[in-house]
Amino acid sequence: MTIEAENITKIYDDRKVLDNFCLEIKDEAAYLITGPSGSGKTTFLNILLGLVKPDSGRIRLLGDYKYPYILAGTVFQEERLCEDFSAVRNVYMVNRKLSPSFAREELEQLLPADELDKPVRELSGGMRRRVSIVRAAAVPSDLLVMDEPFTGLDPETRQKAIEYILKKRGDKPLVITSHETEGLEFCRKVPIHP
Ligand code: ADP
Ligand code: MG
Repeated sequence: MTIEAENITKIYDDRKVLDNFCLEIKDEAAYLITGPSGSGKTTFLNILLGLVKPDSGRIRLLGDYKYPYILAGTVFQEERLCEDFSAVRNVYMVNRKLSPSFAREELEQLLPADELDKPVRELSGGMRRRVSIVRAAAVPSDLLVMDEPFTGLDPETRQKAIEYILKKRGDKPLVITSHETEGLEFCRKVPIHP
């Protein structure tokens, strides 16, 4: 399947945040969307996911796809974790095929074991980011979308997170935004111009 973002335009308060933005997301490819803060990266991802409507343009699913929308595992910019649930529960709740013990094994690849049973609201920003990454990879999906997944991670943890994402994504397409490009050389760079 190819996902085609076709001439996406989005206007907020008389300002064109996205102006005829186009992107073809091919099977197995990874895309790094770059651009300064406020350039429309999150807006584009939300349009791609069907959460925000563009003023013009459209997202097309080309090829043989069994759903009317894209099943995506997502790291949202603002996380959208269930704050009162533990990291383990946040992960296994997104996929009925997953057991709590499997979720724990996945989380332990990126987080200290003694943080996994606390409500996630008690975790640091960087830890919450890592819970979001593991949750995104746990969702049954055909696309991974990650909005600033490495915010608050030190270089070593970030590298581990990148390796985890690469391992879990298999041959799924990946669309990611990040300020730092280090370690993401495998992605095709897609600049958004403000
Ligand atoms: P980025 O992710 O690249 O930092 P965003 O997509 O979050 O950029 O935002 C792009 C611009 O659109 C910003 O100026 C932001 O203030 C504005 N914006 C985003 N969402 C809304 C909204 N719901 N209402 C009004 N303005 C918005
Ligand atoms: Mg953003």
